[in-house]
Amino acid sequence: TGKMPTINFGAGPAKMPEDVMRQAQREFVFYGNTGLSVIEMSHRSSHYENINQSSQDTLRRILKVPDNYKILFLQGGGTGMFAAVAMNLMGRTGTADYLVTGSWSAKAAKEAAKYGKVNLVVPKANKYTEIPPPETWNLDSNASYLYYCANETVHGVEFQYVPESNGVPLVADMSSNFLSRPFDVSKFGVIFAGAQKNVGPSGVTLVIVREDLLGNALPICPLVFDFTVMAQDNSLHNTPPTFGVYFTGLVFKWIEEKGGVEKMAEWAKAKSSLVYDTIDQSNGFYSCPVNPECRSRMNIPFRIKTEELEQLFLKEAQSKGMIQLKGHRIVGGIRASLYNAVTLDETNTLVQFMKEFMKSHQ
Ligand code: PLP
Repeated sequence: TGKMPTINFGAGPAKMPEDVMRQAQREFVFYGNTGLSVIEMSHRSSHYENINQSSQDTLRRILKVPDNYKILFLQGGGTGMFAAVAMNLMGRTGTADYLVTGSWSAKAAKEAAKYGKVNLVVPKANKYTEIPPPETWNLDSNASYLYYCANETVHGVEFQYVPESNGVPLVADMSSNFLSRPFDVSKFGVIFAGAQKNVGPSGVTLVIVREDLLGNALPICPLVFDFTVMAQDNSLHNTPPTFGVYFTGLVFKWIEEKGGVEKMAEWAKAKSSLVYDTIDQSNGFYSCPVNPECRSRMNIPFRIKTEELEQLFLKEAQSKGMIQLKGHRIVGGIRASLYNAVTLDETNTLVQFMKEFMKSHQ
């Protein structure tokens, strides 16, 4: 079947650990002794309840999620959560603070404005290349929550710290850097992440919510987005994305076996430094517009001297099996995504290619 070795640098859906996929493949038709595939099981069966519980338990262990937080497996993706967060939390005061640092937080703020008053914490930017310093933020002490996107997948802007919200519940979109570093869950009110970058197939969306924030959903909130209902029913109120919950459970175990989120952070630092160093030492042949203090370890957007060279770069990379390197259409250029499953060796292959390409086109 002549499979060319591909290296997938896609921004999501993205590369998954091969070991995990092989295990899912082995178990796909008959899961354990059940005589069934996970996708054929009733979500009310004890087998599925075990899968649901085990995925939650592993995640709770690897992130040290405190007991007063619920872990939910929902549907609707990151975009669904833009609305769900507002519908679940906005009710308390009718207003929320949004820290817009890229296109995803901008979309979240726009969606939330359907359900209450959105206060923009930092002035609207026309390009997203830095995070304005916390001293300049215009925070409202009456806000129901402070929202931010921990890693802007399109612009390559990542918070290297947890913002201080002065007692207001903090909400984070961690879709594209979830489980790539340790963090203190107790600093957050809500954390959410679509699975399709670091943790599994699209279709399952992870939510971690502090219990005291439950019970405030707006009356218009659909049941499937109501964190309170979903928490009460242990993510089994209606049919959950069963295969996704199963698969993310395998990925959580993989992370645990590899050394946890601490190890993922070590890898992320090593891999992203290789690429950023290559860019920074290229005398302007390659350039990354993002301020070094908030450069993403997951998604690295960069430009090459000319658009012709960018096209050629993508074409040659593709012929060497390095795929999905095209930048997002709103920023152009190249984007290398280095999620947990992308190895240091694979990153080295990219970096060697970047160096050779530069040599032949300088
Ligand atoms: N938030 C971030 C940071 C993302 O990268 C994405 C998708 O790529 C989304 C939200 C939207 O997620 P979805 O496509 O699952 O709605």
